[in-house]
Amino acid sequence: MDSFGAATLPIATMTVGLSPTASTGELRFAPATTALSKTSGFIADAGFTHSLTPARNCTYGCLYCYVPTLRIHGGLRKEDWQRWGQFSTVKENVPALLAKQLRPDQRIYCSPLTDPYQPAEREASLMPQVLGELSAAPPEVFVIQTRGPLILRDLDLLLELAQRTLLRISFSITTNREDIRRIFEPHCEPVAERLAVMKELADAGLRVHATLAPLLPCDPEQLVDQAMAASNEALIVDPLHVRATKSQGATTRDAAHRLCAAKGLEEWLDPAFQQQIVERMQQRAARQGRLCGAGVQGFSWLAKTAT
Ligand code: SF4
Repeated sequence: MDSFGAATLPIATMTVGLSPTASTGELRFAPATTALSKTSGFIADAGFTHSLTPARNCTYGCLYCYVPTLRIHGGLRKEDWQRWGQFSTVKENVPALLAKQLRPDQRIYCSPLTDPYQPAEREASLMPQVLGELSAAPPEVFVIQTRGPLILRDLDLLLELAQRTLLRISFSITTNREDIRRIFEPHCEPVAERLAVMKELADAGLRVHATLAPLLPCDPEQLVDQAMAASNEALIVDPLHVRATKSQGATTRDAAHRLCAAKGLEEWLDPAFQQQIVERMQQRAARQGRLCGAGVQGFSWLAKTAT
């Protein structure tokens, strides 16, 4: 145990199975009017031209998730933000729309508003069709933002796509403390399993960034070490968003604020404390020659058109 009370979490070396941790939630289907949306805000600032959101609502249902705070501005319906995480509405016609909308100069982020490999995707199985369309008409850059071990189901399709476009996997690890993970994101897979999935993707030859975001209470140095061992590209770190530093747009849900207060973890929402933690993480990564970018700078590395 370290000073934060975290046990060391070894990276598993075996092939990772699909975890039974998360229930798949209620699955619905509905057509969308578009597959790709022009970006704005944080994702546009990072350099992405378009976003691809294959479903509305996310059955991981993380307690801090920023998306439901966007409400209609995130394309949500009232039931989505009131019952966040309890169901997901898959945009069933996204593959057909992509066939018409994909262009070679697009830099696409998938997804700012849901996890493309959320539990509901296991049954929906939309992503194999999405990856097939991308391979047929590859954009300039395609980034998958996920925390879901289910991504390994599509490994062959991902390897094929990586031959045709600049594919980057941005894999979310928010803490190295299982007690914290269980509190804030109880429907997500354990930290050790997620690290093992990253390693398997990287070992297969894909570009894998460990995205330490939103950063939850953790042992910062240990988390950086584990993330570097599991990934093969620059690290990205982004603390929990707070209104003190972000007056508009998506932010941390009230439930996470209440939980931090109840558990004596308020400092993780304090911008000055967050900055110290980020600097410690960057120093740790730099000592081993690895880039570690914070906020928009870090996410901009995902959108780069050169390797
Ligand atoms: S996985 Fe991402 S989109 Fe889904 S609930 Fe968690 S933070 Fe929100």
